[in-house]
Amino acid sequence: MNKAELPEKICPICGRPFRWRKKWQKCWEQVRYCSERCRRARRTGREKEG
Ligand SMILES: [Zn+2]
Repeated sequence: MNKAELPEKICPICGRPFRWRKKWQKCWEQVRYCSERCRRARRTGREKEG
C-alpha cells in the first residue's frame, strides 16, 4: 500500500474531497475549490442571510 500519495483538499462549496491535479501543480497552495464551477459559486448566489 504505497501508492503515490497525492495531496487532497476538501472543497468548501460542495464539501467533496478532491485531489491534486497536474494543472494545479503551480498553484496548488492557492487552490481551494474542486472546480471552476465551485469557484464561481462562491461569488454568485447566496446573498441571503441566515
Ligand atoms: Zn466543489
